[in-house]
Amino acid sequence: MIKFDFDNTYAKTLEGFYTPWQGAVAPDPKIIQFNQSLTRDLGLDPEALNTPEGAAIFSGSVAPEGADPLAQAYAGHQFGGFSQQLGDGRALLLGELLDKDGNRFDLQLKGSGRTPFSRGGDGKAVLGPVLREYLMGEAMHALRVPTTRALAALTTGEEVMRDGLKPGAVLARIASSHLRVGTFQFFAARQDWDKVRQLADYAIARHYPDLVSADDRYLRFLGAVVNRQADLIAKWMHVGFIHGVMNTDNMTISGETIDYGPCAFLDSYDPATVFSSIDRNGRYAFGNQPNIALWNLTRLAETLLQLIDAKDDDNAISLATDALNGFNDRYNDAWTTGMRAKIGLSTNQEGDTELLSDLLEIMTEQRVDYTQFFRALADAATGDDTKLLTLLTDPAKIAPWLATWQHRLQSELQNPTERAAAMNKINPIYIPRNHRVEEALQAAEAGDLAPFSKLLGVLQTPFTKRAGLDDYEGPAPKDAPIYQTFCGT
Ligand code: AMP
Ligand code: MG
Ligand code: MG
Repeated sequence: MIKFDFDNTYAKTLEGFYTPWQGAVAPDPKIIQFNQSLTRDLGLDPEALNTPEGAAIFSGSVAPEGADPLAQAYAGHQFGGFSQQLGDGRALLLGELLDKDGNRFDLQLKGSGRTPFSRGGDGKAVLGPVLREYLMGEAMHALRVPTTRALAALTTGEEVMRDGLKPGAVLARIASSHLRVGTFQFFAARQDWDKVRQLADYAIARHYPDLVSADDRYLRFLGAVVNRQADLIAKWMHVGFIHGVMNTDNMTISGETIDYGPCAFLDSYDPATVFSSIDRNGRYAFGNQPNIALWNLTRLAETLLQLIDAKDDDNAISLATDALNGFNDRYNDAWTTGMRAKIGLSTNQEGDTELLSDLLEIMTEQRVDYTQFFRALADAATGDDTKLLTLLTDPAKIAPWLATWQHRLQSELQNPTERAAAMNKINPIYIPRNHRVEEALQAAEAGDLAPFSKLLGVLQTPFTKRAGLDDYEGPAPKDAPIYQTFCGT
């Protein structure tokens, strides 16, 4: 008998923020991918969970003892348009657990059947998108980007209608919570300020406990979420990640990346890059992510105005605006610090910002592969620029920049070998290359999980070059079709 020590604060203290619910019964639930090491880190028992009994639980078919399964209510701006009522249309929060260090996390199932929030949807998920979320989350975690993570991927034994019939699937995932900007919007849209306050108090206690007894805690809470999101987006930009659907319901209060749908990593550098087929206007383009994060945080600020301790409405707006204005500084600091490290600099000097923007201009013009460039730059730091020059269409154009960079390096004490080693510790060699991801998901849909398992293994150790993995380093061949991602449902 599987036993979880659930401690369900959301179910117990936030009545009215969810609907208690049950998963649909899956005809033949099977765990096809199981996150053994995460299970262990969480203090759970992999032997007990990676079983048919575990499959029944993770598919949503059977609620384990002590669970209070529920579907959460939220609203959200989707591509700029507001929906009063989104919510978990195909997800269930099974409950909250504490890991070995006492950190609280949600165990959530995605694809476990219809709920009162399903609107026109079928409440299901299918194999490709479930495995994509599994892979992307693990890759981001290995790249040290805060993220929700997959505990298990299952097939349900059911066929689900999408673009043709697809294997039904469920993702069991963990998150430090599923509180979203959209959760606040749900109650603010109904002008239920008592509930907004209750939610803010809950979010503060769960994610920003230092603020619990601060007088101006709601304003400081806003500032704290602004900081965490600024740090998160900077990390996305460092690794070349494009979320693809940064709606306010897909932005967490905890500062974790959530909801991997049409996301993808950059190949050649270009801030205008969009992979998602539904993002026709580039709202969620790579280079627009910081702006959109701030736009989303502004929506959060609007829900908190009534709670902010202020002389009058104007004063509340001005205080909230100050908090939002903190985003750009925080983001720029985090971004510049990380980018400096990417090019091998360990001190902060005047001219660094220009050095970085000059580099990105060259990379854009010459469509340089973003990931390969920084690894090749580490070689250049030790005097070997052969690889680097092959990444440019017009190598002569980078010579002046390289000279300025070399000169700048000389103002630091680090020796070249140490510098290259430090660069290779933060610049990944393996990222989820679009063609590799697609190939793995297609094989999985055809019943062969081997390419997926291999790719997952490669991405779990992204900074260490290994023999035999050259094919995982680069972008798709130049004559490959243009890559598009589709809103995984
Ligand atoms: P997403 O695009 O995954 O962030 O989801 C946006 C909203 O649509 C959320 O409220 C989801 O719960 C809901 N949704 C997405 N797919 C389905 C589905 N197949 N059935 C029901 N609701 C869904
Ligand atoms: Mg979502
Ligand atoms: Mg979703």
